[in-house]
Amino acid sequence: MSILTTVKEVLAASSQNTNRGGGTTESEGGYWCHDCSERVLDLDVEGSEPPTCSECGDEMEFERSAGSTGCAC
Ligand SMILES: [Zn+2]
Repeated sequence: MSILTTVKEVLAASSQNTNRGGGTTESEGGYWCHDCSERVLDLDVEGSEPPTCSECGDEMEFERSAGSTGCAC
Protein backbone atom coordinates (compact mmCIF):
# COMPACT_ATOMS: atom_id res chain seq x y z
CA MET A 1 0.00 0.00 0.00
CA SER A 2 2.77 2.41 0.85
CA ILE A 3 4.51 1.54 -2.41
CA LEU A 4 1.48 2.65 -4.42
CA THR A 5 1.46 5.97 -2.61
CA THR A 6 5.14 6.46 -3.35
CA VAL A 7 4.68 5.71 -7.04
CA LYS A 8 1.82 8.17 -7.27
CA GLU A 9 3.89 10.86 -5.62
CA VAL A 10 6.80 10.23 -7.96
CA LEU A 11 4.54 10.34 -11.01
CA ALA A 12 2.92 13.55 -9.83
CA ALA A 13 6.28 15.14 -9.16
CA SER A 14 7.70 14.20 -12.54
CA SER A 15 4.65 15.46 -14.42
CA GLN A 16 4.80 18.72 -12.52
CA ASN A 17 8.44 19.13 -13.44
CA THR A 18 7.65 18.46 -17.08
CA ASN A 19 4.91 21.06 -17.15
CA ARG A 20 7.01 23.57 -15.30
CA GLY A 21 9.95 23.15 -17.64
CA GLY A 22 8.19 25.03 -20.41
CA GLY A 23 9.86 22.87 -23.02
CA THR A 24 13.30 24.41 -22.64
CA THR A 25 14.87 21.02 -21.97
CA GLU A 26 12.33 19.15 -24.06
CA SER A 27 13.41 17.64 -27.32
CA GLU A 28 11.38 18.88 -30.28
CA GLY A 29 12.60 16.15 -32.53
CA GLY A 30 15.76 14.85 -34.04
CA TYR A 31 17.96 14.75 -37.08
CA TRP A 32 17.77 11.69 -39.27
CA CYS A 33 19.74 10.08 -42.02
CA HIS A 34 17.17 7.89 -43.69
CA ASP A 35 19.74 5.93 -45.63
CA CYS A 36 21.59 4.80 -42.52
CA SER A 37 18.77 5.11 -39.98
CA GLU A 38 21.09 7.30 -37.94
CA ARG A 39 19.40 9.64 -35.48
CA VAL A 40 20.67 12.54 -33.38
CA LEU A 41 18.50 14.33 -30.86
CA ASP A 42 18.20 18.05 -31.44
CA LEU A 43 19.34 18.55 -27.85
CA ASP A 44 22.63 16.91 -28.75
CA VAL A 45 23.27 19.27 -31.64
CA GLU A 46 25.04 22.53 -30.87
CA GLY A 47 24.14 25.58 -32.90
CA SER A 48 21.61 25.79 -35.68
CA GLU A 49 23.57 23.89 -38.30
CA PRO A 50 22.22 20.45 -39.13
CA PRO A 51 24.66 17.70 -38.23
CA THR A 52 26.14 15.32 -40.72
CA CYS A 53 25.61 11.60 -40.61
CA SER A 54 28.41 9.74 -38.92
CA GLU A 55 27.95 6.87 -41.36
CA CYS A 56 27.80 8.50 -44.81
CA GLY A 57 28.58 12.16 -44.08
CA ASP A 58 25.38 13.46 -45.63
CA GLU A 59 23.51 16.33 -44.02
CA MET A 60 20.84 15.00 -41.70
CA GLU A 61 17.20 15.94 -41.94
CA PHE A 62 15.26 17.40 -39.06
CA GLU A 63 11.99 15.80 -38.05
CA ARG A 64 9.72 16.84 -35.25
CA SER A 65 8.92 14.10 -32.78
CA ALA A 66 5.35 15.34 -32.24
CA GLY A 67 4.37 14.86 -35.83
CA SER A 68 1.52 13.11 -37.56
CA THR A 69 3.60 10.00 -38.03
CA GLY A 70 3.58 9.24 -34.33
CA CYS A 71 5.42 6.27 -32.90
CA ALA A 72 7.14 4.01 -35.36
CA CYS A 73 6.67 0.97 -33.16
ZN1 LIG B 1 23.90 8.34 -43.45
